[in-house]
Amino acid sequence: MLVSVTTRQTWIPAQHVYLHVPKIEKTSGHPFTVCNIPRKIDDTTNDRPHQSKQELLIRVREGMTKRLFEMATHSMDDETLVDGARPQQREPFALRAWTEGPYGKEQHLDTDYDTVLLNSGGSGVSYALSNGLDLVRRRRAMHLRLASPETAIATKKLFFCYMIKTAKQIKWIEDQLKDMIDHSPPGFLTVILHVTKPANDDDEILPGYITHDKRDKEEQKNEKEKSKPERLPHTDSSDSSETVVGESNSERHARKQVDHQSTVELWSGRPDFNVVVERCIAASDYSDWFAVGTCGPTPMNDSLSDAVSLAVKPLSVLRGEQRRAIKLEVEEFGW
Ligand SMILES: Cc1cc2nc3c(=O)[nH]c(=O)nc-3n(C[C@H](O)[C@H](O)[C@H](O)COP(=O)(O)OP(=O)(O)OC[C@H]3O[C@@H](n4cnc5c(N)ncnc54)[C@H](O)[C@@H]3O)c2cc1C
Repeated sequence: MLVSVTTRQTWIPAQHVYLHVPKIEKTSGHPFTVCNIPRKIDDTTNDRPHQSKQELLIRVREGMTKRLFEMATHSMDDETLVDGARPQQREPFALRAWTEGPYGKEQHLDTDYDTVLLNSGGSGVSYALSNGLDLVRRRRAMHLRLASPETAIATKKLFFCYMIKTAKQIKWIEDQLKDMIDHSPPGFLTVILHVTKPANDDDEILPGYITHDKRDKEEQKNEKEKSKPERLPHTDSSDSSETVVGESNSERHARKQVDHQSTVELWSGRPDFNVVVERCIAASDYSDWFAVGTCGPTPMNDSLSDAVSLAVKPLSVLRGEQRRAIKLEVEEFGW
C-alpha cells in the first residue's frame, strides 16, 4: 500500500522515517524508507522545499501494517472519510498520521559514480526509486545546462533493475517509474523489469511504454535458436567465468522494448546478476566508477553481491586494462 504524508521535512534518497498513526498505535512508530524525493523531478534547483509529500511504500505484514490496510479498505468510520464520502475499497482515504525523521545515511549513493545500477525486489524498490528519481532529476538539469554545482552529478548511465512476483505489482510504482522514464535525458536510463511468476497476457505492464513483441511464439523460438550469444566487450578472457548477453539462467521470454528516450525491458524469471553486472560494465568506460545499490530479500542481495565480487578483476587492473572502482551498497529492511 502507498501512504502519503504532507510534511515540512526534507530528506535525501534512501533515508527512512518513523510513521506514527495514533489511531492504530498510540506510542510507537514504524520505520519506512521514503520512496520519493522532496522536489519535483523537473526542479533544477537544490532549494529546500517549503512543503512536500512523503510517499511510503508499505508491505502489509501482520501487525500495525495489517491494521492500517484493513482500516483503509474495510472498516472506515465517519472520522476517516475523505470529503464526507465513503470511498470504494483501495481508493485513497485520509487519516491523522505524522512522520518522525528522517533517519539513516546522510550521503548520496551516487554523485561521484559514472555508472549506477539500482537493483531492488518487492517493497525494497523504495530505496531504488528515491535514488533513481534523484539521479534522473540531476542528470536532466545538467542536460538542460541548468544545474547548480550542488545539483551536478558524475553519473552518465543508470540501470534500474526491479524484480517483482506478478505483473500487477508494477502498479505500486507505475507513476513514479513513468516520471523517471519521461524525464530522463536520452540514453541515460535503462529500466530492466523482471516478473518472476509466469505472466498472464492480460496483465499489461506500463501500457504505452513497452511495445509487445507481436511475433508468434514459433517465430521467436526459431530466432532464439539461430542467434548466437554475443560476447561482451571489456570481458576479461583470462578469467574463468564466461559472460554472454542474450541468455541467462532464468527462462528468457521475448524482450520488449520501447521507442523512448530510455529503454524499458521486460523479462520473465529471475535475473542472472552476472549478466546484469557485466552489462553495466560493458556500457561504461575502462576507468569509470561504478556503484551498485540493492535492496530487497537477502538471497537476491547476496546473489548480486557475489556477481559484483566476480566482476572485480585485479589481474586486469594490474595489466592496465581497467581502472574501475566498484562500490556496493546493500540495504535490508529489518531490525
Ligand atoms: C530502516 C528500515 C526501513 C524500512 N523500510 C520499509 C519500507 O520502505 N517498506 C516496507 O514495507 N517495510 C519497511 N521496513 C520494514 C517495516 O518497518 C516493518 O515491516 C513494519 O514495521 C512491520 O510492521 P508490523 O507491525 O505490521 O509488523 P509485524 O507483522 O508485527 O512483524 C513483521 C516483521 O516486521 C518487524 N517489525 C515489527 N515492528 C517493527 C518496527 N517498529 N520496526 C522495524 N521492524 C518491525 C518484525 O520484527 C517482523 O520481522 C523498514 C524497516 C527498517 C528497519
